[in-house]
Amino acid sequence: MRSLIRTIVIAAVALVAVGARAEAKLRVVASIEVLADLSRQVGGDRVDVTSLSRGTQDPHFVDAKPSLVLALNRADALVYVGLDLEIGWLPPLVQQARNARIQRGQPGNIDASSSIRPEDVPNVPSDQMRAMGDIHPLGNPHYWIPPKNARAIARLLAERFTALDPGGAATYKAELARFEGRLAAKEKEWEAAAAPLKGTRIVTYHKSWSYVAHWLGMEEIGYIEPKPGIPPTANHTAQLVELMKKNGVRLVIVESFYPSTMAKFVAENGKARLVAAPANVGATPAIKTYFDLVDAVIAALKGG
Ligand SMILES: [Zn+2]
Repeated sequence: MRSLIRTIVIAAVALVAVGARAEAKLRVVASIEVLADLSRQVGGDRVDVTSLSRGTQDPHFVDAKPSLVLALNRADALVYVGLDLEIGWLPPLVQQARNARIQRGQPGNIDASSSIRPEDVPNVPSDQMRAMGDIHPLGNPHYWIPPKNARAIARLLAERFTALDPGGAATYKAELARFEGRLAAKEKEWEAAAAPLKGTRIVTYHKSWSYVAHWLGMEEIGYIEPKPGIPPTANHTAQLVELMKKNGVRLVIVESFYPSTMAKFVAENGKARLVAAPANVGATPAIKTYFDLVDAVIAALKGG
């Protein structure tokens, strides 16, 4: 009888411990789904991750729903792309959330762009760039697809999660090593698969494929938007089509949330193939992880 009671007591204590552990998960809120996935990959079972936006949405413009404020209010960490990608919607949400843990300067405020080397950083002041209509005056924020940047983001996440949750240090170290191992293998596979794309001349809707172009050796000839964030005009489009024909542009790349009629028009008249490429986890239901995303990007570029 005594040993039975002892067993029950031990079992009860174990259950309470499991319960406490479940409650103690690090609550991570990510601005976009690809950062949510990288957070899950690095955080393993120590983290509880939510994304503020869906992969089908344009990450420049997300509806500021009250539920997002609630998620931010409870967060231990906020992971975001930075370089002003989310400037149109995230700062007011963070302000309304009144959560000191995720304010700038706190370890729970994780600006993923601090881990990478930004491209297209203009050499004129950012307010001047903004006045000229460019929505990315701090540099190009569409950097998360190339493996070297995903690796840098994952390392930053592991470092910050460890600072916020020192008890999980061993888990974060092991999960990061697992992620990096898989990434190194996939990187070789992706680069081999994409080798035929080297030298391919491309036009993209938004300037959101530059990092991918540089990674895979493709050459950007122009953009359907005259400036990042500025809608196309008839005059600009006509000039672009001429430029495409002169330069033998083969691909026109566009994310699903941009108007496809304009992209279709440019591709048809410029004699190029239209590529509806995913740029985020969740862009299609099959893209559940960062690895799925890059697989899908390369398949789309190759016409698979
Ligand atoms: Zn952009």
